[in-house]
Amino acid sequence: MTTDLLQIEMQKASQSRIKEVDFNNLPFGKHFADHMFVADYVDGQWTDLRVVPFGDFSFNPALSSLHYGQSIFEGMKAYKNDAGEVLMFRPIDNWARMNESAKRMCMATIPEEVFMGGLEALLRTDADWVPNQPGSSLYIRPYMFATDVYLGVAASKTYRFCIFTCPVGVYYSKPLKVKVEMNYIRSAPGGVGAAKCAGNYAGSLYPTLQAQQAGYDQLLWTDATEHQYFEESGTMNVMFVIDGKLVTPALSDSILDGVTRRSIVAIAKSWGMTVEERKVSIREVIDGIDNGSLTEAFGAGTAVVVSPFQVIGYEGKDYMLPERAPADSFAARVKDYMSDLRTGKIEDTFGWTY
Ligand code: PMP
Repeated sequence: MTTDLLQIEMQKASQSRIKEVDFNNLPFGKHFADHMFVADYVDGQWTDLRVVPFGDFSFNPALSSLHYGQSIFEGMKAYKNDAGEVLMFRPIDNWARMNESAKRMCMATIPEEVFMGGLEALLRTDADWVPNQPGSSLYIRPYMFATDVYLGVAASKTYRFCIFTCPVGVYYSKPLKVKVEMNYIRSAPGGVGAAKCAGNYAGSLYPTLQAQQAGYDQLLWTDATEHQYFEESGTMNVMFVIDGKLVTPALSDSILDGVTRRSIVAIAKSWGMTVEERKVSIREVIDGIDNGSLTEAFGAGTAVVVSPFQVIGYEGKDYMLPERAPADSFAARVKDYMSDLRTGKIEDTFGWTY
């Protein structure tokens, strides 16, 4: 859908801030590109679609999203290929997931042409902000929040949808020390774990801090009922290589359906690897480390693509994962392959680049 059909109003920043940014030294989430896309949902319609200079919103103290948490978001990235063209990786998947989150949180959904049209208009305006340094990218943050000024606990009738972007640098993912969480939970059957809603992230901060104070980088969340099965780790889906097979927890209403997870599953299958999406128990993983059948464990998400686990801490004991040479590691190979796909370095036989 071209943006002209959508009637997106364009208000350009009087001066670009791009010269203030050192593209060779980009901290995550600190520098914001010149513009943002904004649309407001009023009377059952997305209205006032606009690309405007990145800047503050003003809001009423009774804004309902601040009180009752109708707030959802997405995270995705844009890259430049060698010809300088801007590429996105599976953006339609993020649009679809955002609407799944919206439905679960009883919010308005966003038509594909509003999401994609806004995204395209914004990226065309700020194309210079997409880094071309190897490993760097433009992180894209679409999000939506309730804007009714009303203190009753009820679904808002109005919403704001916004997309802004940040250039981000190489993400050096050192192998992680993760702790199996046996008390706190990220989500539960019937809950909102499969939605990318703001509260899920707030709820994870305190248990994660405790794990970090105990010397770990991240938590490995377990199921809410038995604490027997793995769910996710931090903001990543988890994957294991056991007996040469790729094994990952099956999706459920307590696990986020990650675009990276989905992509790695498809790539592994295309490489002829057996993939099992099923329950993965703590016991199976600990036994697999002990008897050598488990050769790799890693998290998968947009930020890092894959992040290998070096240590899994469980009930006071640290289990070391075997070290693997990159040529010997599925995680390292799939990470390179995904990076090459996302930057247009190899032919995309899956049709994922946009
Ligand atoms: N799980 C959670 C809880 C997340 O926040 C994310 C990041 N969006 C993921 C998994 C990975 O999803 P994706 O591959 O789409 O980034």
